[in-house]
Amino acid sequence: MKKMKAIVKEKEGIGAILKEVDIPKPKEDEALIRVIYSAVCGTDHHIYSWNPWAQSNVKLPHILGHEFVGEVVEIGRSISQVKVGDIVSAETHIFCGICKQCLTGNQGICKSMKLLGIHTPGSFAEYITVPEKVLWRNPKDIPLKHCAVQEPLGVALEGVLAEDISGKSVLVTGCGPIGLFAIAVARASGASEIYASDVKEYRLSLAKEVGADKVINPKETNLAEATLEYTHGDGVDVLIECSGSPKALRSGLEALTKGGRVSLVGLFGQEINLEPNSLLVFKAARVYGISGRKIFSTWWKVRELLEKRKLNIDPIITHELPLEEFEKAMHLVEDGTCGKILIKP
Ligand SMILES: [Zn+2]
Ligand SMILES: [Zn+2]
Repeated sequence: MKKMKAIVKEKEGIGAILKEVDIPKPKEDEALIRVIYSAVCGTDHHIYSWNPWAQSNVKLPHILGHEFVGEVVEIGRSISQVKVGDIVSAETHIFCGICKQCLTGNQGICKSMKLLGIHTPGSFAEYITVPEKVLWRNPKDIPLKHCAVQEPLGVALEGVLAEDISGKSVLVTGCGPIGLFAIAVARASGASEIYASDVKEYRLSLAKEVGADKVINPKETNLAEATLEYTHGDGVDVLIECSGSPKALRSGLEALTKGGRVSLVGLFGQEINLEPNSLLVFKAARVYGISGRKIFSTWWKVRELLEKRKLNIDPIITHELPLEEFEKAMHLVEDGTCGKILIKP
């Protein structure tokens, strides 16, 4: 059996190691893909650090990684659309196709979905197998590095475009990769003014680079007050919450105009204490929970924007590291001194 390099989490507790494992054999409905770039996600760090979520969702040993671009090198017998040589990425929500959600056009929130790279072996490896139904064929003219980040970019796009934003003011709280992608999408989609907040100066400077008009560090400035001042006391039309911080959500809602819209993209590590009457009810606010992408309408929108070079996302891809330096990638994520990190097998 031929071998490949992969980042494997073998034991509970912090850590993962680079080791040689068997190259997987694709099942009937799967393709074998040679990974070209794989992008690091917060979820990979959750698995690496073995947080409570990872403990109850991931079976060991496990290969990390789920955002990628690669080349198809072998296909299973029942595959009909994908060919050897295709450059592909993947939707990470492996939907069942038969539940109520799947049968009503909502595969992205399938009731019994499996997650690629979480419930199946991941892409921090030289090869990965993926079921054909979640493969996405990339056109030749999108840069490979952009192809590798379409999955998180799609989440940001859904958050921003849950409603029309042209001519509207937008506040993005949290400037990790998803928040930064959200700023780039908002800029390309005609937002009138974009405010961005984060507690890390490094991330605020990236936010400016990708199109934020004003950046606010809540450690130094009251976020709600500053935003209200910028908007002449009206507040913002749209809040895109990407930080998962209860404080940021509260400040963002305080800064939301009456009749405004909220997209909740970030995941919260705890329960939140909010005063709903003044912050939501009397504002007649519309709140959207953003869970992944729409399959596959989000992918088509992302493709259009990338193919026509409408998104300024190059500054967000801050690092490119070999598999051997995976540990360094995890430290960068912990420090928050990175945007998206690409891993090259
Ligand atoms: Zn991810
Ligand atoms: Zn389903």
